[in-house]
Amino acid sequence: MFEKILVANRGEIACRIIRTARRMGIATVAVYSDADAHALHVEMADEAVRIGAAPVGESYLVAENIIEAARIRGAEAIHPGYGFLSENPDFVDKVVAAGLTFIGPSAASIRAMGLKDAAKRLMEKAGVPVVPGYHGEAQEIVVLASKAREIGYPVLIKARAGGGGKGMRRVDNPDDFAEALSGARREAKAAFGDDRVLVEKYVEKPRHIEVQVFGDDFGNVVHLYERDCSAQRRHQKVIEEAPAPGMTAEMRAAMTEAAVTAAQAIAYSGAGTIEFIVDASEGLRPDRFWFMEMNTRLQVEHPVTEMVTGLDLVEWQLRVAAGQRLPLKQDEITLNGHAFEARLYAEDAAKGFLPATGTLYHLRFPIAAPAGAEIRVETGVREGDAISPYYDPMIAKLVAHGPDRATALAALSSMLAQTEVAGSTVNTAFLAALAADADFATGDVDTGLIGRKQEALTTVPPPGAEIVAAAALAASGAEDLPASNDPWSAVTGYAHFHAVPKTVKLKFGEEDIAAGISVKDGRYGVDLSPAMNTGAPTRHHTGAGAGHLPLARWPGHVTVFDGAVSYTFAVPDPLASADEAGAGTGSLRAPMPGLVKVVRAAAGERVAKGQPLLILEAMKMEHTIAAPHDGTIAEIATEGAQVSDGTVLVRFAEEG
Ligand code: ADP
Ligand code: ADP
Ligand code: MG
Repeated sequence: MFEKILVANRGEIACRIIRTARRMGIATVAVYSDADAHALHVEMADEAVRIGAAPVGESYLVAENIIEAARIRGAEAIHPGYGFLSENPDFVDKVVAAGLTFIGPSAASIRAMGLKDAAKRLMEKAGVPVVPGYHGEAQEIVVLASKAREIGYPVLIKARAGGGGKGMRRVDNPDDFAEALSGARREAKAAFGDDRVLVEKYVEKPRHIEVQVFGDDFGNVVHLYERDCSAQRRHQKVIEEAPAPGMTAEMRAAMTEAAVTAAQAIAYSGAGTIEFIVDASEGLRPDRFWFMEMNTRLQVEHPVTEMVTGLDLVEWQLRVAAGQRLPLKQDEITLNGHAFEARLYAEDAAKGFLPATGTLYHLRFPIAAPAGAEIRVETGVREGDAISPYYDPMIAKLVAHGPDRATALAALSSMLAQTEVAGSTVNTAFLAALAADADFATGDVDTGLIGRKQEALTTVPPPGAEIVAAAALAASGAEDLPASNDPWSAVTGYAHFHAVPKTVKLKFGEEDIAAGISVKDGRYGVDLSPAMNTGAPTRHHTGAGAGHLPLARWPGHVTVFDGAVSYTFAVPDPLASADEAGAGTGSLRAPMPGLVKVVRAAAGERVAKGQPLLILEAMKMEHTIAAPHDGTIAEIATEGAQVSDGTVLVRFAEEG
């Protein structure tokens, strides 16, 4: 076994790999960019090496710097994690040429599966069912459009180099083909430097079911059962589970056999995943699943497989890479219970899942598992760390296991309700709404479920009076005072109360709230005027002090937690100039740093509410910026401009 390895990644996956390595007595070397100098993975590793500036192209994607770090520190092998260089065969070649071991498959296996079109042709030959479609060389729009017509609409245009749901467009009718094609190409070019696409049949009532496989250098290939990743938004996984709900013995046998055949066809070694798309319109049928792609790496959602098999997939990766045989034979790998994983992201679900950034001023993860269940939190951040625009905004993976699906799902819901994040917009409430959805709860899930119910899943009820009162009290500073009926502390409370402002101004979204704070008999009273929703003043007595509602105060804000739902109130600084407050009306600002890819409107143009004005590429995704209201454009950003967070993208003319 290796004595020392280098982990060429960051965040939760770097931490997760380091943990297993440590348990196995293997020393670890972390690498980091300037943005990650104080990151958790750096702290956890035995050693750490700086590899460059924050942008991935200057650090985590620079093969030479990473290999040099391994050489200097005497690491024998490199674990790539997922993303970054994990599926880059040229990197594997360089690692091997430097006399090091790549903890993953051979460059040849990665090449065989790297491009979706070539992989599909290969799988067809191996007898694995593939999605009907065109995966040939021709790229002319006339050819692709006529192929689409032959395949029959709806079709899916996919970047052949695609990953992470990028460079993909569903097209429902021929008129939209050209526009969708150029969008897919643009995104593919930006993300992968390759704008070649394939066109395939869009499968009805699609379910994404994938099979975890493992191979070694002795020709052995086993599967570790399936995962269902059908809960998706924008083709990205949201909650994954194992096993797949409704799976039959017959379907499982067919899918796992196809997966093992696929891996054997490329003499696969290490951890890999065969992703299948399933037509579930008539339930799970062995003649209704097709190969979609193979991910030649450890998958984000591998923990659900670990929970149901009791195995450590990183340990297996290390063993196989060190030249050992697979630790178990197929009939020794058993399935136990059910597991879920939810991806906790810094993103605004209500705004089309717009990625968010921010400092995690307050961060609490669940610690208690409900009876009969097991929980696990995979994270790479601590309280006080920042979610930067440079990397994937995932904060944590919440993983729950139980003897059956219902117990595991209840445990996941309980985890979400115990999670508290303040300082960035997060998707906790959305995940909880999905976990509580009636169809999801019965396992009736397909990849369109979230899209169909998006409005309901991303809408949270407005805060009730109790929540607003708690926020006002926290903002006033009164809640720092002793909270009890003990006469002595009540007296101290009175003494301090003079230091507490008696009116507090808050903002919830666009809504201004004024609250009057009073104290009587050791209890605080909060007058809300006007009351949220009712318009009438209400008097709200609270049990004095923090106490019953968990909340967090952070610069300029108070966040109140109500189960998985959180309410963030801005506490305007009374000293801030009126000027500052007035700016921003009549203009649209960049929600995050990015590149202005396409500009669709010009100065002087009259635009209607909802009309797309420009496309901002940020955090590897394209975001369409639409007009918030009707108006005339006074000024608009130029195509190709690099903008920072808060830059004015569009300024509207004053309406007369
Ligand atoms: P998985 O298939 O392992 O669940 P995904 O399908 O979510 O992972 O993503 C596919 C790949 O794209 C992964 O390697 C992941 O690290 C990467 N990825 C996903 N989202 C982003 C992002 N926002 N920025 C950069 N890479 C990403
Ligand atoms: P990526 O490399 O981005 O992960 P995939 O080919 O794995 O790309 O597809 C991502 C997701 O898009 C799938 O999980 C599925 O939800 C959806 N998808 C892909 N192909 C099809 C198809 N032919 N029909 C319906 N949905 C599809
Ligand atoms: Mg995929």
